[in-house]
Amino acid sequence: MTGMTNQPINAGRLWGALMEMAQIGGTPKGGVKRITLTDEDRRGRDLFTQWCEQAGCTVRVDSMGNMFARREGRDPSRLPVLMGSHLDSQPTGGKFDGALGVLAGLEVMRTLQDLNLVTEAPIELVNWTDEEGCRFGRAMMGSAVWSGLHPEAKVKALQDAEGVTVGDALAGIGYVGDIPCEVFPADAMFELHIEQGPILEAEGRKIGIVTGAQAQIWYEAVVTGQDSHAGTTPPVARKDALLTAARIIELVDFFMREEGSESIADAGRGTVGRLVVYPNSPNVIPGEVRFNIEFRNPSDARIAEIATMFPPRAEALAALNNTTLTLTPVFRIPAQPFDTECVALVEQAAEKLGFPARRMVSGAGHDAVHVATRIPTAMIFTPCKDGLSHNEAESVEPEEAAAGTQVLFEAVVARANRVL
Ligand SMILES: [Zn+2]
Repeated sequence: MTGMTNQPINAGRLWGALMEMAQIGGTPKGGVKRITLTDEDRRGRDLFTQWCEQAGCTVRVDSMGNMFARREGRDPSRLPVLMGSHLDSQPTGGKFDGALGVLAGLEVMRTLQDLNLVTEAPIELVNWTDEEGCRFGRAMMGSAVWSGLHPEAKVKALQDAEGVTVGDALAGIGYVGDIPCEVFPADAMFELHIEQGPILEAEGRKIGIVTGAQAQIWYEAVVTGQDSHAGTTPPVARKDALLTAARIIELVDFFMREEGSESIADAGRGTVGRLVVYPNSPNVIPGEVRFNIEFRNPSDARIAEIATMFPPRAEALAALNNTTLTLTPVFRIPAQPFDTECVALVEQAAEKLGFPARRMVSGAGHDAVHVATRIPTAMIFTPCKDGLSHNEAESVEPEEAAAGTQVLFEAVVARANRVL
């Protein structure tokens, strides 16, 4: 295992930084409300800048407010190795979603400074703007623009519930940077994040070696029947749109479970999370139901199979019930595998440090998934208590935060020192 260092990070200092950052937007219930491009976000960014500069880094900001804290390497011709995550939170968020990845990166920088260790390649710590998407409705906004997946002008015109645009909010907190937001040559990117799911904790593992993100297909569904009197309409005359919707929800669950995977982490997902029932009256048979269906799976082939097999089965269920179904695909995104060499570095680091680890696919979206479309990327997951996230009770054990940070340190330093 070339390039691994055997140098420990400072677990107490990491925890101190996490707790100090959590005070900015800290809620009475112990969570964090640091919504993107608000004054709390600005204060988090200011503190981040101050800490990075103290750790010997130079901070630059791009036109979307993405922040890059750079530590020079020995060889000026080498491309930087990136690491990072996001400092913004949900309105009732926790202390660790995003912040762990950024402050673990800070701890990597501080440890390098302590050790007076200069890597071959430069290292840059990134704080991506607006990962959560809770204010302007566009998750992973900063990394999406950086990766060229969304046009900047369009994103900057998005408005929050009060009609404030992204562009105005960014200017309002003083974080419109002077460099363009666009992909620049970089050697790799590593993101540490809490798992936000129950698998690592259930299996007693400290590290998730994330191999990629799932493929997805989303549908909008409208079932049309006929609203009629609940007391007078006999079974044969009913056109109950809600009953059809219920049977389709059952079918979604069947498609999810049909996979028969032994490992819960590898199985697909199928969800109906929202129903709108008309007329939604206790004694009227529902005449129309609108809902959303989403399937996710690590395998593009399985999503293709679902796209072929699910719609006719669902339409047949609707017809059997004297109703009609209109199923409109909203979007379909392919699986995003991470870079095999970067994933291997994470695996080797966990192995060397003796942390129980497993390979897994990310169920959620992350900045790293966008970045992976442009440069070699990998992610590290750490367990979180009861798999709970996007919740003020989100909780991580200090030693687990430290284990993930140690793996990040080893992987980033090994990549930055690799022999080209
Ligand atoms: Zn996050």
